[in-house]
Amino acid sequence: MNGSSPQKRPAATLRDIVEGVENYLEHERDEGRMTVEVSPETVADLTKLEVATVSDSGDGDSGLKAVAQQVSACKKCALHSTRTNAVPGQGNSRPEIMFIGEAPGADEDEQGLAFIGAAGKLLTRMIKAMGLTREEVFIGNILKCRPPDNRTPLPEEMAACLPYLEAQLDLLKPRVIVALGGTAVKGLLDITTGITKIRGKWLSFRGIDLMPTFHPAYLLRAQSAKRYVWEDLQAVLKRLGRKPPKRKAP
Ligand code: URA
Ligand code: SF4
Repeated sequence: MNGSSPQKRPAATLRDIVEGVENYLEHERDEGRMTVEVSPETVADLTKLEVATVSDSGDGDSGLKAVAQQVSACKKCALHSTRTNAVPGQGNSRPEIMFIGEAPGADEDEQGLAFIGAAGKLLTRMIKAMGLTREEVFIGNILKCRPPDNRTPLPEEMAACLPYLEAQLDLLKPRVIVALGGTAVKGLLDITTGITKIRGKWLSFRGIDLMPTFHPAYLLRAQSAKRYVWEDLQAVLKRLGRKPPKRKAP
């Protein structure tokens, strides 16, 4: 726009900066130049740029990081004392879909990432069958810390942890929530109807459309339920105006 002040320029994203630096360095290497001279002024400029980028990234990335930091310091329930790592959840900061599971298992507790064990691998296949990638969605859990021996989360643990999920939802603003399994539905909506009855029926949480479906860990034991999950995920795609790919269920 004419006459707009320099401050109105759109902020460069960290990705733009990293790609730019990568391209420049690759070009230099391809030209046979194996060293770069960087003046103290350039280093100072780059430092400023990074600070500006962090504050310019708005409520999305920096807000999510703040929630993750709060989660890793959280002692609101007894699970803090047995966790290796808290698992805030990960993915796109502006996703169309947020998948919400129950709680971290052993692999997730070990690495601090949601859905990376066997159930996570099936979830990845489900997301791919939808024509999406894990990087395009956000994946999290009702509880951010692993219950000992993977026992079912207690109501008081879910109530203590819910504000973190609510804060994440307010930042992520997904168009659809996919609640994976009965515990996720119960933790969010405090309804006790079994997942078999309630799956496939649109509900709503904080004004966001919510689709309940089976948990991938259940699908690992009950293969025949996969077709219901595929139906539910196709309904999600339809609501988002996306065409389900012509592929078989995951
Ligand atoms: N099961 C869940 O509900 N969440 C995970 O992150 C892993 C397994
Ligand atoms: Fe805090 Fe949630 Fe972990 Fe409990 S499960 S300690 S409420 S982050």
